[in-house]
Amino acid sequence: MADYVSDFMAMVKAKNPGEKEFHQAVEEVVKSLAIVLEKRPEYRRAKILERIVEPERVVLFRVPWVDDRGQFQVNRGFRIEMNSAIGPYKGGLRFHPTVNLGILKFLAFEQVFKNSLTTLPMGGGKGGSDFDPKGKSDLEVMKFCQSFMTELFRHIGPDTDVPAGDIGVGGREIGFLFGQYKRLRNEFTGVLTGKGLKWGGSLIRPEATGYGSVYFAAEMLATRKQTLEGKTCLVSGSGNVAQYTVEKLTQLGGKAVTLSDSSGYIYDPEGIDAKKLAYVMDLKNVRRGRIQEYAGQFKGATYTAVDPKLDHNPMWNHKADCAFPSATQNEINVKDAQNLVKNGVYVVSEGANMPTTAEGVDVFLDAKILYGPGKAANAGGVATSGLEMSQNSLRLRWTREEVDGRLHQIMKDIHKTCVEASEQFGTPGNYVNGANIGGFLKVADSMMDQGLV
Ligand code: NAP
Repeated sequence: MADYVSDFMAMVKAKNPGEKEFHQAVEEVVKSLAIVLEKRPEYRRAKILERIVEPERVVLFRVPWVDDRGQFQVNRGFRIEMNSAIGPYKGGLRFHPTVNLGILKFLAFEQVFKNSLTTLPMGGGKGGSDFDPKGKSDLEVMKFCQSFMTELFRHIGPDTDVPAGDIGVGGREIGFLFGQYKRLRNEFTGVLTGKGLKWGGSLIRPEATGYGSVYFAAEMLATRKQTLEGKTCLVSGSGNVAQYTVEKLTQLGGKAVTLSDSSGYIYDPEGIDAKKLAYVMDLKNVRRGRIQEYAGQFKGATYTAVDPKLDHNPMWNHKADCAFPSATQNEINVKDAQNLVKNGVYVVSEGANMPTTAEGVDVFLDAKILYGPGKAANAGGVATSGLEMSQNSLRLRWTREEVDGRLHQIMKDIHKTCVEASEQFGTPGNYVNGANIGGFLKVADSMMDQGLV
């Protein structure tokens, strides 16, 4: 079986040269699945793995737009339609200068398993652009979004592919994208999620990924008969996921002491309480400022700028109980993982997608800490997108309590699936195997049922 995994990975690397994040995401899953393929040879005969790493469709397109100075600009747009075995493609759009085909393929691949874990009927997809909304005016963002949707609209639809937000795509961008879709199609449908509350959005969708990641951590802690009460927590990022992670942690009695952006991080040993969080939300969502300003605002808080010469991130080197990486991929390397464990962190719940390198994951698994990988821990966002789709189809709107209750139950179910799958396949307590296997089985069985497509 070791030969099968290494031959398979050699094939994936040869066929997808230079896509290192995609290789990393596939390798992690394939390692977990080796034991499944041994027990279920029919999956190998049906070439399920070979098919699951091949996107059903990739759309790559030019996005021309005019900036405020009248200059022409050209960006690249993508949509990866990865797998539709259990439902329409579903996954976010990322606008960030680092976006490329390999990053979006890794995200789309992860999304397939994550969406399957949610128990809802959603396939996997992902898309975005190398456009950077930072420093752009609202008008420029609108012109970009309209041009992006002018091509994307022909590939998506409420029963085909339903995009949502991700890094750089929040309520403002979803609004502009939805407006242009509606204009081109002359249809008001649930084609995007993360919509505004007045025009088809769901309560709790903005909160869902952060809340879900905290609910998942609480479930992991419950296996050791513990709660988040009194726990000191490191949170990275300061965007959508990080903000609502801090909010829910505080509600459950935990204390968040860090936040970051791509320039640096703040450390506030007193804790980021509700008042301070309101300041961060205004800073990031309205004024679109930098996290550094927090340290100038609140006594006792310090700011540390990113130092590219360091081989680790000092944010992960503070004493704490829990860590909630909520910024971006590979933000915890092997040294950071070692520092976390050394400083007493024994719960890691990944709000971001693949924030830990493969070597970092091994550190967590060897230390036998409660490590919840992103495809399980951050599935609350897409799950609530699924609930937004349900409400759109029903033409109904559920209350905050109803959506939050469903989200909470889904996170408990995902946790249970991970625990049971990891036990069934002989690695109890290993949430990486649990999430990969639990997510895979439903998709693989559906692919078997639907024939060679
Ligand atoms: P967001 O609102 O755009 O915030 C992203 C945050 O991460 C910002 O503070 C940003 O700082 C920081 N960041 C982004 N790229 C970075 C980089 N290369 N280096 C350092 N910091 C970086 O995005 P989000 O929705 O919170 O997403 C955060 C993570 O959660 C992503 O991995 C995303 O895929 C994942 N996720 C999101 C959802 C969702 O519902 N939104 C669902 C599941 C998973 P700057 O402002 O300086 O760039």
